[in-house]
Amino acid sequence: MDTKQLAELLYPSLPKTLGDWEEEFRLRELPEGAAVTRLGPSPTGFIHLGNLYSAFVDERLAHLSGGVMILRIEDTDQKRRVEGSEELIIRSLSHYGIIFDEGVTLEGERGSYGPYRQSERAAIYHAAGKVLVERGWAYPSFMEEEEIEALRKKQEALKILPGIHGEWATERELSLEEVKAKLDEGKEWVLRLKSRGEGRETFSIEDGIRGSVRVHPNVHDTVLIKADGLPTYHFAHVVDDHLMRITHIVRGEEWLSTLPIHLEVHEAFGWEHPVFCHTSHLLKMEDGNKRKLSKRKDPELSLDFYHQEGYFPEAIREYLMILLNSDYEEWRRDHPETPLEAFNFRIDHMSGSGALFDMEKLHDVSKDVLLTIAEERILSFLLEWADEYAPESAPEMHARKDELLQLLAIGRDAKKPRKDLIYAKQIYTFIHYYLDKDFRLEDELPERVEREEAVGILEDFLATYDYNDDNSAWFDKIRKISEARGFALRMGDFKRNPEQYKGTVSDVSTVVRLGVTGRTNSPDLWSVMHIMGEERATARLRSFLETLR
Ligand code: GLU
Repeated sequence: MDTKQLAELLYPSLPKTLGDWEEEFRLRELPEGAAVTRLGPSPTGFIHLGNLYSAFVDERLAHLSGGVMILRIEDTDQKRRVEGSEELIIRSLSHYGIIFDEGVTLEGERGSYGPYRQSERAAIYHAAGKVLVERGWAYPSFMEEEEIEALRKKQEALKILPGIHGEWATERELSLEEVKAKLDEGKEWVLRLKSRGEGRETFSIEDGIRGSVRVHPNVHDTVLIKADGLPTYHFAHVVDDHLMRITHIVRGEEWLSTLPIHLEVHEAFGWEHPVFCHTSHLLKMEDGNKRKLSKRKDPELSLDFYHQEGYFPEAIREYLMILLNSDYEEWRRDHPETPLEAFNFRIDHMSGSGALFDMEKLHDVSKDVLLTIAEERILSFLLEWADEYAPESAPEMHARKDELLQLLAIGRDAKKPRKDLIYAKQIYTFIHYYLDKDFRLEDELPERVEREEAVGILEDFLATYDYNDDNSAWFDKIRKISEARGFALRMGDFKRNPEQYKGTVSDVSTVVRLGVTGRTNSPDLWSVMHIMGEERATARLRSFLETLR
């Protein structure tokens, strides 16, 4: 068979040859060791933590080495395409500090290796497919679904590996005339790889994350270009990664099983393949067992979730880095103030066996990270979150933003700083007592304090309260009231002789706290009252008094 003629028959008038494209997409001039990475999401309208996890690896690899990170939209499956996905991907990732250097952007395409949407690269794939046909590495296949299905049944009955491979790939032998006749009939066709893997031994390849990985050779005549003229993932990403001069392919471990196909396509072209880096799945603990995070069961897999709850991107980045490199936490301990970008992230320090994603750990990390973020930034993030997710409270929050700033700062510069702040929704819940609109009594009087006693405490407090008292003068007054009313000043005294006291000084201050905040727990009460101002604080205490009388 004259494969050159076959190639000409299948792809008669292409604007450019693969050689032309090779010329056009010159090797990049980058510093030695610079990594060129790409994220290749499909525009399905859903962006998840796994995408961010991979993107973070791409980003660190590229930017730590002086390289380039590309956004390529893998939209060859037109049925799954969802309007607005590209924008969602770009915005969601940039929220977490992932800004692409090249590829699809909100302002159009950037870079000279495009187009960066696979659906616009058909001419390139056809030129590439044509070369494989010429070299006897690919052929047209006219088999219909039913025929493939019948073949599979027959193979199963014979206990033979199902699929189009080896001697079962009968269309490998079609003559030029037969192909011509079918094309003339208008029969649909796909382009298949003519695999040379049958009979080959397993072999090893070096994965950037996993080290040496044992691989079975591919034997299947996999579809490279579909009947609609668009390529499959297997073909498209190989061609694109080569022509975009990608050095590292970071992708999920679900692609390990089809890696042999990708390796064989590279071989067919005679191209050196980039470094494959297969990340491991994100896992979660459930009933003592680890399992994969699932789109259906776990809302925390969707990036939307983190947006709605108002997690700080800094915290998510920090936690992802902990998941990515096991030595990161130690580095962080030694460099508490250093930006994460300074950490020497290494793909060969990533785990190949699953990363356990734990919400509680995320919260702990978040508490620490928020201590390093200026209150101004915490507040502006909170206000932005509130505009979207707490619109009823947002106007008062904006109006009181100077007060909220002070409120958020309480206890943060102490030797052992308070770690009350985790994420926007939680912070909102933590401070919303402060807003008149949201204020209500959330807790009950302390157990040891009767209603009447509480009335007395509040009356005493209001009678002596002076806004200008400093923290210790303020507390002295609480102590005086406690003593006069028979409450112990020290916990120890009360514990030793409980029958001598009505309770402790903390019961007394709790009554006041309840009046001001509606809660029995709050950051430093003197500070809260001071920020609130005399008028609002005493008005709350007086109205509490009314409800108790
Ligand atoms: N479009 C593929 C996906 O969304 C990309 C995989 C890759 O990065 O090669 O899974």
